[in-house]
Order: sequence, then C-alpha cells, then structure tokens
Amino acid sequence: MQETNNPGPLASDARVVIVGAGQAGGWAARTLRKEGFAGTITLVGDESWPPHERPPLSKSVLLGTAEPASTHLFPDADWAALDIGWMACRCARTLDRQARTLVLDDGTSLPWDRLILCTGGRSRTLIPKGMGENCEALRTINDALRLRERLQSARRLLVIGGGWIGLEVAATARELGLEVTLVEAGDRLCARSLPENVSTWLLELHRRQGVRVMLNTAVSSASKQPDGSVDVRLSPALDAGSTLAVDLVVAGIGMIANDELASAAGLECAGGIVVDASCRTSDPDIFAAGDVAVSPNSWMGCSGRLESWQNAQEQGIAAALSAMGRAVVHDPIPWFWSDQFGVNLQIQGVICDADQVVTRGAVGTPGDDLRLIHFYLREGRIRGVVGLNAAKDVRASKKLIATGASPDAAALADASIPLNKMS
Ligand SMILES: Cc1cc2nc3c(=O)[nH]c(=O)nc-3n(C[C@H](O)[C@H](O)[C@H](O)COP(=O)(O)OP(=O)(O)OC[C@H]3O[C@@H](n4cnc5c(N)ncnc54)[C@H](O)[C@@H]3O)c2cc1C
Repeated sequence: MQETNNPGPLASDARVVIVGAGQAGGWAARTLRKEGFAGTITLVGDESWPPHERPPLSKSVLLGTAEPASTHLFPDADWAALDIGWMACRCARTLDRQARTLVLDDGTSLPWDRLILCTGGRSRTLIPKGMGENCEALRTINDALRLRERLQSARRLLVIGGGWIGLEVAATARELGLEVTLVEAGDRLCARSLPENVSTWLLELHRRQGVRVMLNTAVSSASKQPDGSVDVRLSPALDAGSTLAVDLVVAGIGMIANDELASAAGLECAGGIVVDASCRTSDPDIFAAGDVAVSPNSWMGCSGRLESWQNAQEQGIAAALSAMGRAVVHDPIPWFWSDQFGVNLQIQGVICDADQVVTRGAVGTPGDDLRLIHFYLREGRIRGVVGLNAAKDVRASKKLIATGASPDAAALADASIPLNKMS
C-alpha cells in the first residue's frame, strides 16, 4: 500500500462519482448528502435496481416470501429527496486518472473530483462443461428471481459448494420441498470462517433437514439428458460409478472482486482494490469500499476483503466521509450472519487464533430450543464469538471484544450472569 496524502476538504461545487449501486455505493451516496455535501453526486450502476442489499436474495426473496423491493436500501421518496444523479443500467468502462474522467459503456464521459469505487464482486463460475443453462449462480436480484422461478419447477437440485451461499440456497430449496444434494470439495462446511465444531453442527443440521451433504467431493463431469435434466459424475464416484441425476445446479463457489476498472487505471490491486484505513486507494482522490476493497484490519491482524453486510454499509459510509476530507478510520470488528432452517448463526470478531473456547447455553439438537454462544479466547481475552440463535449475546459480546475483556471462564459459561456485567 502506497502512502497517500489527505486530499483535503471537498469544495461545495465539487463532483463526486460513485461506481456501483449496491450496498456500499448506496450508503456512500446517502452519506455524502446527509453530511452536507452540496455538490454533484453521480451514482453509476450496471443493474436496473436502486441501491439494495443482498442477504434476502438467498433467503426470503428466493423462498418467495419477499419481493425485490424489500431489499432496497432506502424508501423511494427518501432516495429521490437525496438528489443523487443515479445512472441505472450503465457500466463504467474506463477510468482516466489524468483527465479525471470516467467513461461509461454508452460513451458518456463523467468528470469527477473524487471517485468512490464500490464495484463489489461477481460469482465465480468455474463449473464443468455439460451443465449449460442448467447451472445457476446467485449474486444479483435478477439471479435470485431467475433461480426462484426455476426452483418452482425443479425437483432435484445439486448445490456445488458448502459455503454460505450454497448452504442458504440448499436450506431454502429444502423449505420449498426439493430433493437437495450438496457437494463440498473440502472436508467440512464453511471451513474458512467457522471452527470445526460449528461446521460439524451445521452439517448435522443440514443432514437432519434432508440435505444430502457430500464432503470431500467434487463434480468431475456432467452431461445434459434429452429430458432436460443433467447427469452429474462425482469424484469420488458414487456407488458402482453411478451418476447423480438433477434438474438444476447452483454453484456457490465464491466471488471474484470487480477490480478490473481500478487495475486497468493503475490503482494498486491484490485480489481487490487495496485501500488504507481511510478507504483511500493508491490515488488520494479515489476511494473504494465494500466487497471489492482490500483493507487493513487490526482485529484480523492482516489486510483482506470482508464480504459482509456490515462492512459494505460501514465502509461505504467511511469512504464517503473520507472523500469529503474528514479523518476516518475504518477498522470494524468483523461481523457476519446467516439464517438457515430457522437458525440464526452469527460470527463476530476473530476465532481462528483461540487457545481456549468457552460455551454458554445448551448445545441441544438442531430444531430444539437452541440458544448457544461459543467464546473464543486468546491469553484469557475474548477475541471472537459464534452464536446460534443468540443475537442478543453476540451484540453484548462486541463490547467485550472491543475492550479486550478477560472475564472468568466459569462466569462466561454461566447463562445466569449477564454479559454486560463483565469486563
Ligand atoms: C445471496 C447473498 C446473500 C448474502 N447474505 C449475507 C448475509 O446473510 N449476511 C452478511 O453479512 N452478508 C451477506 N452477503 C454479503 C453482502 O451482501 C455483501 O457483502 C454486500 O452486498 C457487498 O456490497 P457491495 O456494495 O460491496 O457490493 P455489491 O452489493 O455487489 O454491489 C456492487 C454493484 O456494483 C455494480 N458494478 C460492478 N462493476 C460496475 C461497473 N464497472 N459499472 C457499474 N456498476 C458496476 C455491480 O453490478 C453491483 O450492482 C450476501 C451476499 C449474497 C450475494
């Protein structure tokens, strides 16, 4: 990361352009206006929807209990009142840092004084040939609507990937009554973000709910059948080398950061756009936020992308403030949640370097009256938590993590002692 100079306060007649009308871009636009910036704000987004968030896309929207409008960040009237120049269905193609212009796919050239890149990511789609149009991925509202429709007529679904998106799609499809098989190449679910015991618990939850989960398994080939279904060959092979017949495949195999615009313009990128704690890229007048940004994080002790709702919102806000010339340090305690089969799972802080784990609540069995939180401690201090139906405890734990609290392990395990009384 290069040293950057603070670009100074933003003139009231300045032009700010934001690329990407997802969660980070929407919050950046709103923040500029709400914080008093009176100049021109242009928000360029290649989707047709106003700024929106994605968590419901694999849950209620996919299930059909909510519509896309429920994902919009701001009520229409509030959005209109912000007086943002929103350019829908327009893709930013070229960034000229010398001329300070952004050229769109229709040839429009937008001048900017400060630029905020919130281009997010796209689904990874490395899947074997032969699946053709039977294979879907899930990132956008349009993806969710298409998949929702296809789930209505499909009977047998294969999900590739035992990460968050794959698991949520599997859970939703089971709720819709489909036969679901999920293959995961690794030896456990969500291995990058969950400790082993919670991975195992999640595996049991899915199996109890009827998902056929196959670990250490990959798709080796697939062939389309005359009836429109797909025969999938797995590795290792199924019994007697038989194939798995499915109607639909969903690949949940991660995302790729949309950093091409930035890297072609010579901004420092490393699997995403590299920013400092003020959300500044290697160009002091250009900022980045959300899934596309590679930021330093003192809690994790490294730089990385935080693919989460919390980061998209908070970093979008931080980037806008920073673009206005305010002193900002964006260094969140990472927080992520997922909902599957009626269980709310939350991860907060850092859990990978723990030397002690303390559990509060009943382990129970999935479906029981479950409320459980695991505390991950290092040298006596709470570094992170994983909660199952324990949103309140996870919230209370944030302060304990932030202050480096080192409570007595027995008290921590005792659900009768409120967490907010600890230090
Ligand atoms: C299905 C799903 C479920 C999720 N569930 C959860 C959850 O339960 N909990 C949680 O914490 N997180 C969840 N997440 C993660 C969270 O939604 C993301 O971290 C968040 O959406 C990132 O916001 P963003 O603004 O950085 O990127 P995005 O929301 O992806 O927005 C980027 C926008 O920029 C557009 N764009 C890209 N390039 C250009 C260009 N050149 N010109 C114009 N526009 C461009 C993209 O099309 C997109 O509209 C989920 C994500 C998905 C996909």
